[in-house]
Amino acid sequence: MTTIENASLEDLPEDIPVLVAGGGPSGLFLSLDLARRGIPSIVIEPRTSVDSYRPRAKTTNARTMTHLRRLGLAETLRDAAPLPVSYAQDVIFCAGLTAGTGQEITRFRQAFQLVPGRYEHQPECGQQVPQPVMESVLRDAVAGSPLATLLTGLSVSDVEYGHRRSSRDISGPDSPRARVDVSDTTGRRRAVECRILAGADGGSSAVRRSLGIRLDGGSAELSNISVLFRSRDLGDAITLDPAVQYWVLGPGVAGMVGRMDLEGTWWAIIQGVDGRESFDASALVRSLVGAEVDLEILATDPWTARMLLAPSYGRDGCYLLGDAAHLNPPWGGHGFNTCIGDAANLAWKIAAELEGWGGPALLGSYELERRPVAERTIRDAAANGQALAYHFADPALRSDGAAGEAARHQAKESLAVKQSEFDSLGLVLGYEYSSSPLVVPDGSPVPAEDPIRYVPSASAGALLPHTWLDRSTSLYDILGPGFTLLVDAGSLAGVAAQEAYEPVLAAAARHGIPVTVAAVGPSDGGTAMATHWQADAVLVRPDQHIAWRGTDPAEAAAAIGVAAGWPLAAPSQDPDRSSRVRAVIP
Ligand SMILES: Cc1cc2nc3c(=O)[nH]c(=O)nc-3n(C[C@H](O)[C@H](O)[C@H](O)COP(=O)(O)OP(=O)(O)OC[C@H]3O[C@@H](n4cnc5c(N)ncnc54)[C@H](O)[C@@H]3O)c2cc1C
Repeated sequence: MTTIENASLEDLPEDIPVLVAGGGPSGLFLSLDLARRGIPSIVIEPRTSVDSYRPRAKTTNARTMTHLRRLGLAETLRDAAPLPVSYAQDVIFCAGLTAGTGQEITRFRQAFQLVPGRYEHQPECGQQVPQPVMESVLRDAVAGSPLATLLTGLSVSDVEYGHRRSSRDISGPDSPRARVDVSDTTGRRRAVECRILAGADGGSSAVRRSLGIRLDGGSAELSNISVLFRSRDLGDAITLDPAVQYWVLGPGVAGMVGRMDLEGTWWAIIQGVDGRESFDASALVRSLVGAEVDLEILATDPWTARMLLAPSYGRDGCYLLGDAAHLNPPWGGHGFNTCIGDAANLAWKIAAELEGWGGPALLGSYELERRPVAERTIRDAAANGQALAYHFADPALRSDGAAGEAARHQAKESLAVKQSEFDSLGLVLGYEYSSSPLVVPDGSPVPAEDPIRYVPSASAGALLPHTWLDRSTSLYDILGPGFTLLVDAGSLAGVAAQEAYEPVLAAAARHGIPVTVAAVGPSDGGTAMATHWQADAVLVRPDQHIAWRGTDPAEAAAAIGVAAGWPLAAPSQDPDRSSRVRAVIP
C-alpha cells in the first residue's frame, strides 16, 4: 500500500488482519513476507526516519541474504551496501594497525560467509551492511508493496486481549481479537482491533509488557562503546590488508575497528569499559588505531551485552519476535539475523491461519521452533563475549625480536577460541526443528549441534541442503511460495512428478494447502538429488525447512497435513498399509 510518515490516528482502519508493532528489521521483514503471501498488514513505528548514526548490526549472514532473495531483495541490498563483498572478507587480529605497529597476529578467512562469487551452502553469501541501510531497503520495499503499510509517528501503548468465545485459538468468526491502543506524538490514543498482533517492538517491547512476559537472563559485567567517525587519513595509515574487522590487541585501548564505507566513514567498538564513566571518544579511537589521524566523531553509543530470552513467545494470536523476544550479545553478529529467522518462521504460519489451512498446532509451533534457536544463539554469543580484545591485549605483541615473536605466536594459538565467532556456519544454517509437531521424523539422527561445522542434511526439520542446478540456478529458485514437494527426477522413470505424487496434490487441494510438486536434478556436477537427500522426495516448507522425506506418495500426502499443523495420527497397526503417517484433518 504505502508509507505514511507522521501518520495520524485517523489513518488507522478500525479492524486490521495483522498489526505489526515496530518497524525495525523484524517488523518490516514480517510485513513484506506476509505481503508476498498475499496477506495485508499495518506496521506501527514511532521513528519517522532511519537513524544512520546508529549503525548497530552490520553482519547480514547467508541465511538472511537467502531470505531476502526469497523476497526479491538480495540484489537491492547488495547494491545499497557501501562495502561490496569483494572489498574484504577476513577478520584480522593485530598488534596495531599502522606503520611500525601493524603486525598481523592471525586472521579468520571468509568470515560471516563473505565469499565472493558463487556460494556453496546457500544461494546467497553473507553481506556486511549497516543496519540503517538494511532498514532503508526494507522501508522502500514496504513503500512499493501493495499489501504492506508503514505508519510512522505512531506507537503501540497497550494491548488488551479478549473477545474469545470459541475453544480454538483464533480461527473462525468467533476468534479472539487483540484490542490495541495506538498513540500519536501528542499522546492522543485510539483503539483498533486486529486478528494477529506481532510484537516486533524491540528490547523494551510494549507488547511484551502487555502480555505480562518478562525477559529472563542477565547482562555482561562491562559495557562497550560504539563510535561512528570520519577520517580521511585512517585508510592510508593502515598498513594491513583490507579486512571487515580489525581487532587491535596492542598496549593502547583494545577493541575493534572497521570501514563503514569506502568514503572515509568508520566504526569502532571499544570493549570492556565502565558504562557509567564519562569518556573522550576521540582519545579512545586514537589510542585504538594507534595514530594521530584526523577524526570527526559522528556518534557514540554506549551499550551492554545482554543475554535475555522471553519464557513465552506469546499466545492467542499475539506473538513476539526479534529483540522483543530475545536479546543477544552482538559477538558473532547473530542478533538481527535471528530476528529475520523469527519473521520468516512466523509469516507463513500467520498466512496459513488467516487463509484457513493451518491446523491447531501451527501457530504454537512458532515458539517451539524459534525459542530453542534463540537460546542456542544467546549461549554461543555469550561464550564469544568471554574472549574479547582486552582479554588478549598485551604490550609484548608489538615487541621486536624473539620476545615479540613468541608473544604473537602464543596469542595466535589462544585466538583459535574465536573461530566460532566468525566461522559459525553450524549455527547459521545448522539449526533444525526436528522436535516440532510440524515435521515427520524418519528415524534418522539429526546432525549434532556444532557452531562451526555445518553438515547439510535432509532429515525432517533441517534446512533444505542447498545445491546449484546449473551455473546460476539454485535449487531454492525452484521452490514455490507455499510447500514444495521436490522429487528426484531420476526416480520418476518417465512419469511426471505431479502424476506420481498425485495424492499429495489431492490432499493439499482438499484442505487448501498451497503446494508445488516439482521434479529436479541432478545437481550441477551430476549428483542425483536422491543422493543429496537420502530419499526420492522431500517436502519443503515455505521457510525452506524440510517437513518430510521419503519415497511413498501416500506418506507424503499425509505429511503435508502434519506440516500444516494438523495432528499426526497414531501409526497404523495394519502391516499392509503403505502409509506410516496419517494427518487427522477434520
Ligand atoms: C552495537 C550493536 C551491534 C550489533 N551488531 C549486530 C550484528 O553485527 N549483527 C546482528 O545480527 N545483530 C547485531 N545487533 C543486534 C541488532 O541491532 C538487533 O538484534 C536488531 O535491531 C533487532 O531488530 P528488531 O526489529 O527486532 O528490533 P529493533 O531494531 O529494536 O526495532 C524495534 C522497532 O520498534 C519500534 N518501537 C519501539 N517501541 C514501540 C512501540 N511501543 N510501538 C511500536 N513500535 C515501537 C522502535 O522504534 C524500533 O524501530 C547489534 C546490536 C547492537 C546494539
